[in-house]
Amino acid sequence: MESLSPAQPPAASEARCPAHPQKAVLGACARCGTFFCEYDRETVDGKDYCDTCAEHPDVDYLEAFRLKYWGKRDAWTWLVGLGALINLAVGAILLANELVNKDLGNAGLLLGLTSLVGGGVGVCFWVGMPFARLALCFVPIISLIISGFIAGAEAVGRSIWPVIITLSIYNNTRNKLFFKEEVSREALQKAWHLFHNNTVARAGFMLSFLALLIGFVAPISLLCSIIGLRRVNPTATPPVGRKGQAIAGIVLSSVSIVGWGLFWAVVKLKLI
Ligand SMILES: [Zn+2]
Ligand SMILES: [Zn+2]
Repeated sequence: MESLSPAQPPAASEARCPAHPQKAVLGACARCGTFFCEYDRETVDGKDYCDTCAEHPDVDYLEAFRLKYWGKRDAWTWLVGLGALINLAVGAILLANELVNKDLGNAGLLLGLTSLVGGGVGVCFWVGMPFARLALCFVPIISLIISGFIAGAEAVGRSIWPVIITLSIYNNTRNKLFFKEEVSREALQKAWHLFHNNTVARAGFMLSFLALLIGFVAPISLLCSIIGLRRVNPTATPPVGRKGQAIAGIVLSSVSIVGWGLFWAVVKLKLI
């Protein structure tokens, strides 16, 4: 028998872990209530679980989110793939025209080549080749420089948007997961919040703005917002948030129903 240390309550040191009888129980799993010792205690987001529950998708929901999108193409990747096909077609047409008619000159040749190279990088991006993630950022920068030389400052102004878009793709969490890049838990949390946190409340909130313009939408946005508000539970695992959006959705939907109701009544009364 080991002697009791003053830091441990007697009950805790007398109880033995069911999986490891040689070890004292340190506590109970927050999900299933099983006792754990120092061997099978797992801490996730500040709560202690047994090692079985710690791997459950509801408990480590950020890890489950990461695995769900790991290596999967996001909307940006599909858009880049589509853009690559257009670039390849444009490049091929420009170069073919140059070979047959020889009327485009150096500018046409340069545009054709950059379109082909840009399209090639886009295809590599769609396939998921690691170099293409950074290379894609250089495609619009290089075409910006070229169009600046050919068409002047006006063209540079128009070409700045692709630069901003490719940089935001580079920093996008879902896109990083497609390329199997490591993502911080904070970034996972933000992406999870955007795609999985109380989507009914989010839909109700967005629809409630539409309801201000189109009265018939108001009952739908009101229903979504009420369902969303009932689901809010910040202490659940995973937590369900968006309480503010749900309340705002209910208020805006109610304003729409009252406003459109009055408007309709007034119009009706005048007609009678
Ligand atoms: Zn458990
Ligand atoms: Zn144990």
